[in-house]
Amino acid sequence: MGYEQAAVRIIEKLEEHGFEAYFVGGCVRDWLLGRTVHDIDICTNAHPGDVISLFPDHVPTGLKHGTVSVKMDGYLFEVTTFRTEGKYEDYRRPADVQFVSDLKLDLERRDFTINAMAMDRDRRLYDPFGGQQDAQQQLIRAVGEPGERFREDALRLLRAARFAAQLGFSIEEQTLHAMRTTAPLLAHIAVERVREELNKLLNSPTPERGCQIIQDTSLLLALPGLQQLFAVSCPQAWRLVHVGSVAQKWALLLYAAGYTCEQARQVCLYLRMSKRETEDMALYVQMLREIGPQWDRPAPVAWGTMLLRHGLPVCQQLHELLRACWWQRRSECPSEELMQTYEALPVKSGKELAINGRDLQDEIGKKAGEWVAHVLHYLLEQTALHGLPNTREALIEAARKEVIRNEY
Ligand code: ATP
Ligand code: MG
Repeated sequence: MGYEQAAVRIIEKLEEHGFEAYFVGGCVRDWLLGRTVHDIDICTNAHPGDVISLFPDHVPTGLKHGTVSVKMDGYLFEVTTFRTEGKYEDYRRPADVQFVSDLKLDLERRDFTINAMAMDRDRRLYDPFGGQQDAQQQLIRAVGEPGERFREDALRLLRAARFAAQLGFSIEEQTLHAMRTTAPLLAHIAVERVREELNKLLNSPTPERGCQIIQDTSLLLALPGLQQLFAVSCPQAWRLVHVGSVAQKWALLLYAAGYTCEQARQVCLYLRMSKRETEDMALYVQMLREIGPQWDRPAPVAWGTMLLRHGLPVCQQLHELLRACWWQRRSECPSEELMQTYEALPVKSGKELAINGRDLQDEIGKKAGEWVAHVLHYLLEQTALHGLPNTREALIEAARKEVIRNEY
């Protein structure tokens, strides 16, 4: 039983018990656009209590808002009772919700016309706000009066830019105008939500479209940590699709905006990124700044040194970043060059050296200290890149000279 079939079974069961039920929101939009549907949501006039008793296999996800997660054939679906939303508080959440019996009222509370369509199980479309036409014309248009909708929930400002980037759509004139005037309200949105929307935007097939909308509407005006970053890096945003991870994408933006490693960490802190993401981003920014690539002007990279210092996986990420920086002349930095350099290294890490730190201390007769790591790395570079034989004798002799040279 497929995913879609399972959803149809839920709708059928609700109908058998005299309720109405429909596919709604993102899945309807994506079907119409011929995109892959990643989650199917269902709306119904059945109250949460009815849904719960009809489907014993459920999780009461958001009962207060009328949402029950129903399990069917191993898949999980959100089944939400038709509702309208009460007065909005703090520019994000409605103070309360009211269950209603009319599908149209439920669609009316949704953000954009393309997200405000429902479909019954026979694929009949319910589209009171012209979502299908907007989908055809590739437009993001607010349902109702745009300014009012953004004032109700300022997260919609970022959702508009994010959907434009994901779908490659434009924003309808009045909606765009309202975004300009309500942009300051983004100050009220939790940074985690801002981060998630920006991540989706950066991860999309046309991030440059999203970044341009951010520019045109001064959307991040109220988020001083981010406004400058997006403003300066916008012309390079088209390169983002050429790197894979979100940490690489942020690092590319930060580099493009001329941020130092320390400033990059500030942005991570501001957005409450995870430690892992922060460390990755800071490392990529640091490496990019060391190399200092100019846009589309490939230059040689000392991959041997980089590999010994950072290891292969990090260098692969860096290579991808550099290819994005040099995208218009990418044939001059083929991905094989890194692997070839790596395979040609006679020694690939400190562990492969014929001596270890202990041996070094014994032979030199000095207490452990920073000098050990330094000398070991020196020996690694000499064996890997400069032909020093990887034998105990040769390494110890080279180590003695290095210790004297550095006056350790
Ligand atoms: P995707 O899941 O592909 O990002 P989606 O359209 O499914 O897109 P969700 O955030 O999963 O987006 O929300 C599901 C539906 O709920 C939307 O299609 C929209 O109808 C409605 N919705 C979600 N967030 C809001 C909001 N902030 N304001 C108004 N309606 C919203
Ligand atoms: Mg969704």
